[in-house]
Amino acid sequence: MTETYRNLIDGNWADGGDLVANINPSDHSDIIGHYSAASVDDVEQAIAAARRAVPVWVATGLEQRKAALDFIGDELIARCEEIGHVIAREEGKTIAEGKGEAFRSGQFFQYYAAECLRQIGEQAASVRPGVDVEVTREPVGVVGVITPWNFPVAVAAWKIAPALAFGNCVVLKPSETVPASAAILADIIHRSGVPAGVFNMVIGKGRDIGNALAGAPDIDAITFTGSVGVGRQIAQNAIQNMARIQLEMGSKNALVVLNDADMDLAVQCAIGGAFFGTGQKCTASSRLVVEQGVHDEFVERMIAAADALVVGHALDEATQIGPVVTERQLQQNLDYLELGKNEGAELATGGDLLKLATKGNFMRPAIFTGTSNAMRINREEIFGPITSIIKVADYDEALAVSNDTDFGLTSGIMTNSLNRVRHFKRHSQSGCVMVNLPTAGTDYHVPFGGRKASSYGPREQGTYAKDFYTIVKTTYIGG
Ligand code: NAD
Repeated sequence: MTETYRNLIDGNWADGGDLVANINPSDHSDIIGHYSAASVDDVEQAIAAARRAVPVWVATGLEQRKAALDFIGDELIARCEEIGHVIAREEGKTIAEGKGEAFRSGQFFQYYAAECLRQIGEQAASVRPGVDVEVTREPVGVVGVITPWNFPVAVAAWKIAPALAFGNCVVLKPSETVPASAAILADIIHRSGVPAGVFNMVIGKGRDIGNALAGAPDIDAITFTGSVGVGRQIAQNAIQNMARIQLEMGSKNALVVLNDADMDLAVQCAIGGAFFGTGQKCTASSRLVVEQGVHDEFVERMIAAADALVVGHALDEATQIGPVVTERQLQQNLDYLELGKNEGAELATGGDLLKLATKGNFMRPAIFTGTSNAMRINREEIFGPITSIIKVADYDEALAVSNDTDFGLTSGIMTNSLNRVRHFKRHSQSGCVMVNLPTAGTDYHVPFGGRKASSYGPREQGTYAKDFYTIVKTTYIGG
């Protein structure tokens, strides 16, 4: 018998309807478990439970709130090896990446545990003599959290932790592709001492229950991470009820490599940024914009480095690049490889499917060369181990190409010139700028988010998260 992941509603584990298999992308014969699909009725019950719990959680002492968040954070960290293994088995990232994700998720909860005790308002003198002004923050209420599969625990953690810390109640709708990771997180939160209904989880497909959550009249705020198309739909649903919206979506991040860059570091950052996590990161380097003086050397070294990467079963310690998450995503990658070739790009290496000991979604990391920024492979998010090299004449063209995109999550520059760094930092139209670092990899105590179609609404993470998870109240006291 495999494990069944159930829904958590009002402090109880509840069966849904159909049982849906959770398949290991490294080994299609490995059924990890089944999730019990929640219905729209389950979603409504979860929202009602969260609504009832709002006054309870608001009245819960700050130290008790902090203790619950500390419990969750400590357990995630203590069990990071085991949880990392589950993440690797169901999502396909390597064990090291899975462990790192579980550990980082624990750090989010620990960080926001401390934030519980830092909720201090402001006082101002009024323009009217004899009047005092106070500015305080209150919880928003019931927050719907909708998460993707690529960081199954971390994205949920960076939303749930601040939501709870600032006094909100939560209904989580994790990606149905990664129910085992979600079930572990929900179980830890369930045992953390939060009152019944403060945290609820419903598992199921977006079109079945995600829509219902986003469009529910009794939801106060929706925070979503996923694709742009779904983000747009969620926003349309949520705005009918004037719910707050926070959307973190797709990307087409550029890493600029200038003639004066440290070439070892540039190749290392480009390989890590483009391919680690099987290229399935919103911060992945999908466009490598290279100045002509180092272009040929960079291409040669990138091909050699990509070819040396070990693609394999995610649970094999030697693996550097795990499988693509689903067969559907793999097919999408193959379609983009075809498209790129038809558009005139050269597939310099990779893209071939690997037959290994187990049947899985294994694809060699692919590099396109001879590409232009106008090609669809450089304009649309691919979300796989595929990157494109774009040759440019000089820094000005590199900056222009980097900014010429519908997205704006992260951007990076590899250079030893302080002037270029300062100029790029000022003029790059992205939410996060990386200097001599991969475009992927961010800290948790500072804001995270993008511009244009990559993000909508207030920033996530750090203290900035409070702008989404709290409502400001201004009080005037006279007499
Ligand atoms: P997705 O948009 O397909 O799904 C995300 C979540 O939305 C899932 O839980 C899904 O079930 C749900 N959903 C789907 N349709 C829905 C609907 N109509 N109404 C409500 N919910 C619905 O994305 P994905 O394939 O899970 O993840 C990959 C995407 O996530 C990529 O575009 C990637 O860039 C993005 N992402 C962005 C960030 C960021 O911070 N910007 C981080 C990680 C992933």
